[in-house]
Amino acid sequence: MGKVTGFKEYKRMAPGKRPVEERVKDYKEITISLPGDMLKEQGARCMDCGTPFCNWGCPLGNLIPDFNHMVYKDQWERAYKRLSLTNPFPEFTGRICPAPCEGSCTLGVNRDPVTIEQMEYSIIERAYKEGWVKPEPPKVRTGKKVAVIGSGPSGLGVAVRLNSYGHIVTVFEKDDEVGGLMRYGIPDFKLEKRVVERRVAVMKEEGINFITGCEIGRDKAASELLKEFDAVVLAGGCALPRDLKVEGRELKGFHFAMEYLTQQNRRNASKPVTVDEIDAKDKVVIVIGGGDTGSDCIGTARRQGAKEVIQYEIMPKPPVERNDTMPWPEYPMTLKTSTSHEEGCVREWLVNTKKVEGYKGVVKALHGVRVYWEKDDSGRMVMKEVEGSEFVQKADLILLAMGFLGPKKEGMLEELKVNFDGRGNVVTDENYMTNVKGLFATGDMKTGQSLVVRALSEGLKTAEAVDKYLMSR
Ligand SMILES: Cc1cc2nc3c(=O)[nH]c(=O)nc-3n(C[C@H](O)[C@H](O)[C@H](O)COP(=O)(O)OP(=O)(O)OC[C@H]3O[C@@H](n4cnc5c(N)ncnc54)[C@H](O)[C@@H]3O)c2cc1C
Ligand code: SF4
Repeated sequence: MGKVTGFKEYKRMAPGKRPVEERVKDYKEITISLPGDMLKEQGARCMDCGTPFCNWGCPLGNLIPDFNHMVYKDQWERAYKRLSLTNPFPEFTGRICPAPCEGSCTLGVNRDPVTIEQMEYSIIERAYKEGWVKPEPPKVRTGKKVAVIGSGPSGLGVAVRLNSYGHIVTVFEKDDEVGGLMRYGIPDFKLEKRVVERRVAVMKEEGINFITGCEIGRDKAASELLKEFDAVVLAGGCALPRDLKVEGRELKGFHFAMEYLTQQNRRNASKPVTVDEIDAKDKVVIVIGGGDTGSDCIGTARRQGAKEVIQYEIMPKPPVERNDTMPWPEYPMTLKTSTSHEEGCVREWLVNTKKVEGYKGVVKALHGVRVYWEKDDSGRMVMKEVEGSEFVQKADLILLAMGFLGPKKEGMLEELKVNFDGRGNVVTDENYMTNVKGLFATGDMKTGQSLVVRALSEGLKTAEAVDKYLMSR
């Protein structure tokens, strides 16, 4: 364990953040990890409590008390090796995971939890710096060929694990770069793209083939892949955005969040934006939707020089502290204030959009109404409008961040004739295989919109299932 009395002696120290006034001038990462000696103290806070609930809280099952102890003992290379046993990409999760592990940390019962995510970040960054992260190609190749469609965290997870078992893996990606939402969705200020490129370079040296700019179902038939490869894995994400069918939806300046975020990620990478440019400079921006995607729009609009940013959420404001509906060690669904929120925005809950007003075809104002939720006779929560609470808010740009409705069906999925569940996601059996033999599905394409850590965990489990199938185990 860390230090027997560590949790009493040392307070939790979260990673530092660049000052708001400095960071909104660029798109570089915001967080600054603590120096090594302070991290040792943070490792010392781990009680090695016997039943590590943190390990249960982490979808990857990371061996958290082990690496906390090793950091406390200054055994960084050992800590890196222990972390790598369960997590092939700690540089992603160490930056953007909402850290459900910390919500389950036993210290969290009556103190602040161990700063596990920061520990992960620091271990992997130290490992890169010291040259411990080396390509590890398999010693023997099985001769079995696997195609992975999609290069987000789930596809990369499948690829890295199957390659390590000696299978020949080719990843097909429709975008011009590898990384999925980590590349063109999540902004650089949360995850700089050099971090993704650094890992992909290692994976290439390990022998994984990447083919970008190739949309399966359009540029290449999915049925061809089924003939050419011994197994095919669908890891195409969940890209259909939930729309808001209100009057004024056709107006200029009313966009899906992903249209907006992708453009800025392309600009940051000095890549051309070939569609109509969306820019928040000097504009009143309204973000509809209170999740991660909405928050990323706020941070991006701030950096573009928006005059004002307002976020509307239809659900009630979450509680600040845990309550009886979310007891420890469950993940606390409490109010989250992201770094983007800190950069300045008005947040309002229990607001519904009635219509959007335009002037000469361009967004001019949002017409909203306050709402509340109550149970109907069947016990279902239903939304009701607060009488007389209608309001009009001036707007120049409105961004829709209301979640996603499963994967796109036209093209690849229609061609493959896979089955879908009631939410529009691809159905598999318990071995991740779809209704088509040798065709597997994983990540958000199977579960619906999720988290990087969950998509990665799914990808690793799918790789195990594919390996069993290929090797008739
Ligand atoms: C704006 C935004 C911010 C987010 N922020 C966070 C966060 O901070 N922390 C967190 O944990 N999670 C976050 N998430 C969620 C997280 O990014 C996803 O859950 C995760 O990326 C899903 O991984 P995936 O591999 O299943 O799919 P994706 O990352 O969506 O990758 C799928 C890939 O498949 C490709 N593809 C699709 N169809 C085809 C085809 N026919 N041929 C070839 N390629 C194809 C796509 O181009 C894409 O690159 C965020 C999501 C969004 C939208
Ligand atoms: S991957 Fe996420 S949940 Fe798992 S240990 Fe890291 S921060 Fe915690």
